[in-house]
Amino acid sequence: MTLVIVFNAGGEQVLHRVTLQHAISMLYRQVARVHEAVPGQHFGPFPVPRSLELVRYVYTRWVYESTGHLACTLPNVLRRDGFRCAYCGRRAATRDHVVPRSQGGPSTWLNLVAACASCNGRKRDRTPDQAGMPLRFAAFVPTLTDLFRPEKPPRYT
Ligand SMILES: [Zn+2]
Repeated sequence: MTLVIVFNAGGEQVLHRVTLQHAISMLYRQVARVHEAVPGQHFGPFPVPRSLELVRYVYTRWVYESTGHLACTLPNVLRRDGFRCAYCGRRAATRDHVVPRSQGGPSTWLNLVAACASCNGRKRDRTPDQAGMPLRFAAFVPTLTDLFRPEKPPRYT
């Protein structure tokens, strides 16, 4: 499946990727213009886009902290981990400090994982080793693309 990169207005900040179909609908709704086209290919009145640029700048402060880094908020940690519990793999709705705060664990991407309420409660203020609950995957610092999969693009107006 061909994915089209969506740039913020100004063409410097990559927001995410959308399907070609979604990209064409954004062109018809005039919320985006073609940033880079596939040479010689057209879809109706538009060149087939390789990337789009939004017409109006979208403020992503809900994603970015003032420092310009992605904020490791509960929704963002859940998105990064695909809403899967890092301990049992079931649906997660909470975030867990791998090294608990009571033991000096920071609130950073590398120390936060998605967890179901049951595992979060069972682990309490212990490390995975102390609790005998190994992580099924390692925490990592995500990019915007990790957080916003093309299936669920935000709606632009
Ligand atoms: Zn769990």
